[in-house]
Amino acid sequence: MPISSPPTVDALLAAMVSFKTVNSSVSGDPLTEMKLAEYLEALAELYGFETRRLDVPGRSHNLLVTWTATPGAPWLMFDSHLDTVTTDGMTIEPLAATVRDGRLYGRGACDTKGTGAAMLWALREYAEDNRQPNSIALLFSIDEEFGMTGVRSFITRDYATLGFTPRGAIIGEPTLLQPMVAHNGAVRWRIATSGVAAHSSDPSRGVSAIRKMVDVISAIEREYIPSLTRRHDLTGKAQCSINIIHGGQQINIVPDHCAIDLDRRVVPGERGEDVLPAVQALLDRLTTADPALQVTQTPIFSCPPLTPAADQSFTAVVQRVLGEMGLPTEPAGCPFATDGGEMATADIPVVIIGPGDIAQAHTKDEWIALDQLHRGVELYGRLMRADLG
Ligand SMILES: [Zn+2]
Repeated sequence: MPISSPPTVDALLAAMVSFKTVNSSVSGDPLTEMKLAEYLEALAELYGFETRRLDVPGRSHNLLVTWTATPGAPWLMFDSHLDTVTTDGMTIEPLAATVRDGRLYGRGACDTKGTGAAMLWALREYAEDNRQPNSIALLFSIDEEFGMTGVRSFITRDYATLGFTPRGAIIGEPTLLQPMVAHNGAVRWRIATSGVAAHSSDPSRGVSAIRKMVDVISAIEREYIPSLTRRHDLTGKAQCSINIIHGGQQINIVPDHCAIDLDRRVVPGERGEDVLPAVQALLDRLTTADPALQVTQTPIFSCPPLTPAADQSFTAVVQRVLGEMGLPTEPAGCPFATDGGEMATADIPVVIIGPGDIAQAHTKDEWIALDQLHRGVELYGRLMRADLG
């Protein structure tokens, strides 16, 4: 059956929420976003847009929707992720998109299908306009909530082949339509100690990996964490914490293995690549003092911080549009990482802005206020029509 357009942006959002796109780290399905991406692709083609599937190795694909205005027109990029956090433990029907008291309820309604629906709807209206100063690219990315592999694949594999350089990128996240220009990045990794297993009737025959880990943990707590003094005005202080520990195999065996998982938040101006080498220098000192210490580090995940662009002229465009709408224009920092950090590594000026309140993201009764959604369509539409300078 040929696809038909939803009659309103509310209906478009409801349709998007009805697709279960729980992040693959939880659902175990590497193709979790595919059906929704196919639906949006069909809709975009119905509206007359060009679409491209951009493969993400080991997963499905990002969807790139483009609308070329006149040749030579500046490009403006939009980004919204398709995946959501888990639907387990929700107190509402997660995929029903129930509308009540001016709110649309459902997993992803706020984070961040609301921004994706608003962007596509705004583009649909823009394409019918007789004034189109800018060409528009809209990226529906995958795997934002856990690995950020979608946006990373876009930047490292596809961006250079697009044939255009956007003047800026709008990252859709629920910010109550306030502009965000900075956020912290994250580095997560494992430190493991090895020992020698032995029967616990004579522990002196073995080397306890847990005992060795105690030394590692105390060095991290006493030396490394207090050394993290960098801070950024908009995002706060650099952080590190040890959040998981595993070790040992049986109650009567001296353990030959112990591991801790750490989470380090890097502020704008810091580099994620510098984190493990700095900790390695500390571990090297411990190993020099105790040659029996066997310790390794293994990276798990990292995403870069978003550092405000040196040239704030793109932010100024967004601020001007917000001012015209009577909305607050003061740029802020957000406490959560987004696709924007990775976009900025390609020197694309980034502003994170979208309808909905992050307070309702990831909650057991996630919702978005429909008046926010409608203001979001208006904001994105005005940005598409804006003089990008
Ligand atoms: Zn999000």
